[in-house]
Amino acid sequence: MPASPNFDNSYARLPSSFYRRQLPVPVAAPSYIAVNEALAETLGIAPKWLASDHGLAVMAGNTVPDLAEPLAMAYGGHQFGQWVPQLGDGRALLLGEVIGRDGIRRDLHLKGAGPTPFSRGGDGRSSIGPVVREYLACEAMAALGIPSTRALAAVSTGEMVLRERPEPGGILCRVASSHVRVGTFEYFARAGRVDDVRQLADHVIARNYPDLLSADQPYQGLLEQVIARTARLVSSWMLVGFIHGVMNTDNTSIVGETIDFGPFGFLDEFAPDTAYSYIDRRGRYAYNQQPAIAHWNLARLAECLLPLFDEDQQESLDVANALLGGFKALFERAFHQGLVAKLGLLDRQPQAVELALDLLDIMQRNRADMTLTFRRLGDLDADGTQHDEMVRSLFDQPEAFDAWAQAWRQRLAAEAREPGGRRAAMRAINPAFILRNHLAQRAVDAAIDGLDFEPMKRLARVLARPFDDQVDAQDLALPPASDERVTTTFCGT
Ligand code: AMP
Ligand code: MG
Repeated sequence: MPASPNFDNSYARLPSSFYRRQLPVPVAAPSYIAVNEALAETLGIAPKWLASDHGLAVMAGNTVPDLAEPLAMAYGGHQFGQWVPQLGDGRALLLGEVIGRDGIRRDLHLKGAGPTPFSRGGDGRSSIGPVVREYLACEAMAALGIPSTRALAAVSTGEMVLRERPEPGGILCRVASSHVRVGTFEYFARAGRVDDVRQLADHVIARNYPDLLSADQPYQGLLEQVIARTARLVSSWMLVGFIHGVMNTDNTSIVGETIDFGPFGFLDEFAPDTAYSYIDRRGRYAYNQQPAIAHWNLARLAECLLPLFDEDQQESLDVANALLGGFKALFERAFHQGLVAKLGLLDRQPQAVELALDLLDIMQRNRADMTLTFRRLGDLDADGTQHDEMVRSLFDQPEAFDAWAQAWRQRLAAEAREPGGRRAAMRAINPAFILRNHLAQRAVDAAIDGLDFEPMKRLARVLARPFDDQVDAQDLALPPASDERVTTTFCGT
């Protein structure tokens, strides 16, 4: 029998006040919903072991393997702008860390493994609905090239959980480069525990930002790099129409990965003020608010790190403000570069950026589908309008596209890029497939209503290759029909 994963847990060696040791609570009748063999290989975990009874028992929390030291991490966070001093892993456990074949250390984390000291009255469990949604979403993000936590396995527990109605229970084994959040720093900083903030920062630097180990100002460097990664992350979300939905500081990763998929959604038509989340009626976390919210969350991180910067707190504040002040430009550079590339242009000149923003504007006014507009744009000719109908038909008023396309063709002509190369570059950046809300909903409904995981598995297969035209999956490329539209998403914890 192949051995279980080789755990090496650096977080468990941090002071005991950083977490609570907690064993998963066994479940009645576990079975696999999905297993990610490719990710297992990367992690140095034998797919054969994962598929074995022992592997399943570990993924279900029914067995704790040697060397794993399950613990619930402590953190706080700003939820919808309000400070909550203690949240913590209430329905999840850090099983341990494994070092992959690529030398990278990653957390294995069981979401839905039973109550912990941080459960605050919750049952510590998850319905299979959110498990299916998170599995699909994080793997889709990774395939799009967007930094994200990953899914190693999804398990059906054979037990029911009580939500608005009884639903089958599930557990997700989540993989991350770190589960430290902005809220983890806030947990210590807001209690005045500067030494713990330093120790947490040292841990994060050693593990995730090792180039800072020899830096003169490692803590300033940490803030700078987290700002840069977060700016790139949010820009990459926006370029595919992703809305995180709950960008609380406790859901903001310290390593710039998309984490905590709850009531997330993807835009169909380009409506930038969209907020799908049931708990976000005022649109705090709407699509177009995400850069400002990321900046706000980073300011909360900066506050935590200030005491580590300089003895002179005014000096520290000036440094932090200068670094935070760079966020907007970093975000815009990444976003504009991405948009220009989506148009098949090489140069991020002001005219090209303006052209891209103009397209977003007419897409918005004409309720054009974001993904299809960009994808099909790649199939148009630089020197003729013969195929334009497939794009212009996406616009309420197709003529709105015609005027824009003329300006676009002028820029293409000015760049004189070889058409085959341009088309290939556009196809490699404009996905044909995203996890549209109605598709996620269909997969969830089938899972909950009939424990039927085929729709989920088909979707996962297609979303693993989002840039390939998959002729047998064209139904998954289309926007929802009017009766399929999902306008509200739920955490459904
Ligand atoms: P989230 O919505 O995932 O960001 O969770 C916010 C907080 O609520 C975290 O501290 C979670 O661990 C906790 N939480 C969410 N669902 C449950 C649950 N079913 N049982 C216990 N704690 C939960
Ligand atoms: Mg969370």
